[in-house]
Amino acid sequence: MQSTNNMKHDLNAEPAATGAVTRRSFLTGLALGGAGMAGAAMLGGCAPQAKAPESGEAAQLAETGEPSFMTPPEPVAEADIVNTLETDVLVIGGATAGSITASVAATNGLNVIMIEKNDEARCIGRDFGFVNPKPVLDAGLPRLDPYELTRDHIEKSGHRVCGDVVYRFMTKSEEAGNWFTDKCATWGLHPEVQAYSSNSDFYRNYTHVINYYPEEGRSEDRYGVMKTMLSSMAQEVVDAGGQYLTRTEAVELVRSDDGAITGAICSTDEGYVRINASKGVVLATGDYAANEEMMAYYSGWPLEDIDWPESTGMGEGHKLGLWIGAKMQEAPHPMMLFKAYCYHYLRVNKHGRRYVNEDSGYVGTAVSQLRQPDHISFAIWDSKWPTELPASLEYGGGMAWDQDFRAYGEEWTAEREEESAFGWERDEDEILYEADTLEELADLMGFEGDARETLFATIDRYNELVATGNDEDFGKRPELLTSITEPPFYALDMKTELGVSVGGFITDVDSNVLDEDGSPIPGLYAVGTVTGTLFGVDYNETTVPGISLARNVVFGKGLGEHLASLA
Ligand SMILES: Cc1cc2nc3c(=O)[nH]c(=O)nc-3n(C[C@H](O)[C@H](O)[C@H](O)COP(=O)(O)OP(=O)(O)OC[C@H]3O[C@@H](n4cnc5c(N)ncnc54)[C@H](O)[C@@H]3O)c2cc1C
Repeated sequence: MQSTNNMKHDLNAEPAATGAVTRRSFLTGLALGGAGMAGAAMLGGCAPQAKAPESGEAAQLAETGEPSFMTPPEPVAEADIVNTLETDVLVIGGATAGSITASVAATNGLNVIMIEKNDEARCIGRDFGFVNPKPVLDAGLPRLDPYELTRDHIEKSGHRVCGDVVYRFMTKSEEAGNWFTDKCATWGLHPEVQAYSSNSDFYRNYTHVINYYPEEGRSEDRYGVMKTMLSSMAQEVVDAGGQYLTRTEAVELVRSDDGAITGAICSTDEGYVRINASKGVVLATGDYAANEEMMAYYSGWPLEDIDWPESTGMGEGHKLGLWIGAKMQEAPHPMMLFKAYCYHYLRVNKHGRRYVNEDSGYVGTAVSQLRQPDHISFAIWDSKWPTELPASLEYGGGMAWDQDFRAYGEEWTAEREEESAFGWERDEDEILYEADTLEELADLMGFEGDARETLFATIDRYNELVATGNDEDFGKRPELLTSITEPPFYALDMKTELGVSVGGFITDVDSNVLDEDGSPIPGLYAVGTVTGTLFGVDYNETTVPGISLARNVVFGKGLGEHLASLA
């Protein structure tokens, strides 16, 4: 196991100003420039991309309370429109939700134009969490009860979800998952059921996710498989007579006099293009987590000290819908927070105090860390981890608790654990310390004065609780009480990371977007992370890990077929 002592927190630093919006890290990159039309261009590689924060807009929100994104821009002048295209269906966004919808609609006989604002569609994720797909049942795992999953998912979402959409996911997931698995086989990708699944009653992972791999197995390219999937589906659209237009960004929805959405105005390198769609316009535009103003307005979290390295969503689709009166999910919106996770091991804050029952899923752990001063948290354990961790799986386990890349049926190994540096790959500023004494460990962690004394007292107290088998302070299950007594000792400086925002528009089960009055907006549909139907309080990874990609399959397929069924 690696140990390093650089880049430690300054535990005695002044607290950040309340409400300040700062970021520890933010990818720079992609300047979109003028979007442009690239004919039926196909996908190449899919590098994650990000935009700079919109700090001017955040400042405006702070000053006036009025977010700038609510105000539509001036409509594009007719004189500036250089071309008009006609189609049955316009899909806005070429990533998983968009390309599945587009390919299903196209292969069911519709004329489809799919547009993507970047050179390449966003390419992220690898775990698909279907309920009762064939590969999972074939592995000998028991068939799950969709009624139970529906009830549990809704309850854990604080009832801030659309119950019919949740139930649709749980019940259509088997068919859609099998369909997708068959499709993957035609692209040379084969399912591998993953081991992790949680045994806790409270953050139970019911399902085992599926990863898809080519014959030669996993590659170094984390999202290489996703590239294959997206390019294959875009190819299907083109093969069926449709078009995939990159560098084409929808900037305005077109509405007819009777209120129906009939197309979009799109920005391209050649100028503005109107795309008229007779059967439907689909928002598949992803999230808004890289839009600082939207995050400040909707997230409900103080944003300082959250790492936002992967999220590139600027909320363009959210704006398009808001400008025409689509019903947005109530704030605060759920967020996909992750990392900040280290099994059941003791957690202390910057004052050296234990603050949580560590027996929790990864989103819960991230949330409790965000509630700590300066969001600082360390996990502490000792050399007994190679026996403690596999033993803990029987009681806890689940996404990010079990080993990444362990196939169902494969042995848990300490070697794999070391390779993945305790579960998730570490950021450059997420630091693992190792020391032969607790005093040395405290030095490495940067603890001084009262905090240092409190840290030692906390570890003593924790060891006492372990010895009695009764966590009188936080009520952690006895099976998960493990002492910190055998050197070397370890401390991990944990970071909370934001994956994507998962709040968005309310839709019905056919993915038709509703208006403020709860009625479907004719012609407007939404799939994927731009929707706000499936997650309530936080990103509910617990019932069905991998639900984001799986719901893109379930609702993308469902919507493609629905559009094809319209007269
Ligand atoms: C690091 C990380 C790992 C993850 N891993 C998993 C996982 O393993 N399993 C899982 O279930 N979920 C995972 N997720 C979440 C999941 O990846 C996302 O929820 C999912 O990819 C969203 O898909 P989408 O198609 O709705 O949106 P996106 O993938 O965000 O795609 C939206 C697309 O629309 C384009 N676009 C936006 N606006 C416009 C416009 N106006 N005009 C034209 N194009 C536009 C964008 O450029 C983008 O290509 C992960 C997320 C992160 C950050």
